[in-house]
Amino acid sequence: MKKKYVIALDQGTTSSRCILFDKRGHICSVAQKEFEQIYPKPGWVEHNPMHIWASQFSVMAEAMGQIGATAANIAAIGITNQRETTILWDKETGEPVYNAIVWQCRRTSDRIDALNREGFGETIKQKTGLIPDAYFSATKIKWILDHVEGVRERAERGEILFGTVDTWLIWNLTKGQVHVTDYTNASRTMLFDIHKLCWDEELLNYFDIPRCILPQVRPSSSVYGTTAAEVLGGSIPIAGAAGDQQAALFGQCCFEAGEMKNTYGTGCFLLMNTGKEAIHSKHGLITTIAASAGQQVEYALEGSVFVAGAAIQWLRDEMDMLDTAAESEKACLAVPDTQGVYVVPAFTGLGAPWWDQYARGTIVGLTRGVKKEHLIRATVESIAYQVSDLASVMERDSGIVSRHFKVDGGASANNFLMQFQADILNMQVERPICIETTSLGAAYLAGIAVGYWKDCEDVKKNWKLARTFLPEMEEERRAKLRRGWKKAVGHSLAWAKEED
Ligand code: ADP
Repeated sequence: MKKKYVIALDQGTTSSRCILFDKRGHICSVAQKEFEQIYPKPGWVEHNPMHIWASQFSVMAEAMGQIGATAANIAAIGITNQRETTILWDKETGEPVYNAIVWQCRRTSDRIDALNREGFGETIKQKTGLIPDAYFSATKIKWILDHVEGVRERAERGEILFGTVDTWLIWNLTKGQVHVTDYTNASRTMLFDIHKLCWDEELLNYFDIPRCILPQVRPSSSVYGTTAAEVLGGSIPIAGAAGDQQAALFGQCCFEAGEMKNTYGTGCFLLMNTGKEAIHSKHGLITTIAASAGQQVEYALEGSVFVAGAAIQWLRDEMDMLDTAAESEKACLAVPDTQGVYVVPAFTGLGAPWWDQYARGTIVGLTRGVKKEHLIRATVESIAYQVSDLASVMERDSGIVSRHFKVDGGASANNFLMQFQADILNMQVERPICIETTSLGAAYLAGIAVGYWKDCEDVKKNWKLARTFLPEMEEERRAKLRRGWKKAVGHSLAWAKEED
């Protein structure tokens, strides 16, 4: 029987999704299921690993069932996942020893503060490309080993396995036959040397983590194993894995150094492929491994905006200025400008290039004539300004001047925002027809590994432009607006810092 489809499993923070793609990269079937978020204490976030697996399995069966696909029709499975989330389980029984500690969980912040006091931050940065943070898996693994009774002893006896979500899913799909991860996911653990491409002994010693719990690390496009027959009634190669943002970079076909994509969701994630070179940022960006089709590793620079689409949600839910997020576009177009108003949505501080956890949301430039539409427009524009700040430092760090900028994510549907982004960046913004780039990236990685697609050139043919936004703003106006933004950010900095 003909292998018609490639399956992408997209295991996200709030839901598990499955998409079946055909050779042209068309979506043939989709299923999605939300699962429980567990908040045991303020700032703590957990998932039940069995719910992650059960929801992912059920959407896979559902998506296949919708179009009558059986294991025999599937060429390969690719996985993309919420990054950094940490699971430890019993090697024999497959039972998790604790809930998954989710990337957002802040329970190990104190450990990171201690690490910085001990002056270990630079070592971490040099080896892993990361800026030490409780997001990454290392301190989460240590927390489980230190706090769950008996787990450290069992781990030292070789009875416990660790995995990020990709590893956990592969282990379950193969019924415990395969314990692997890919380079992109390994690069988010804060235990992996991204230059030497191995688990780092010094870091393992520092965090007191036994090496035997760690998975084998493999390229993102590679046959890791096949599904156990009892899982889906046939054996399907599991042939691709990448963290969500790296999968999106691949799904956007950003295969060359200098190509970048930005995902406009709750927050924004900007990634630039930097090719074979791992570039260390001078401006607080992260250096990470990018997903690639070959055996050779490629790198990316990554920056994020904490509050992007979330600021539109705030206008809708707290300010009651909008019924839907999509309405924001009409409001923006109802006024010619913001009347000099800037909104800096620094609700949780500001990331790169400002790095100020004490910055807070700020509105400046109010005059008597300012209407709701001006405030909405200033909020939408703030998304583009924040992304431009990131893109500028990326350009400086990499020395690469890009002219193209690929976009995806929910808020990329806003045409006003995309035009303003092109204007403020002075770059061509390109929005593809298929904005399911995360799943597409996972499918491409798996499909290339099994020869369903030949190579990167082959999948590139599937990338179809929906709309291009060309920069139209005059340089003088662009410079003036960006100066204004910088000044507005200046007013938001250090706001929440206690006075002495
Ligand atoms: P996530 O994957 O982070 O949940 P999505 O990619 O689904 O996010 O995008 C949803 C976010 O985008 C929400 O924060 C929403 O406010 C914002 N959003 C969605 N549509 C629009 C729009 N047309 N204009 C502006 N923001 C939008």
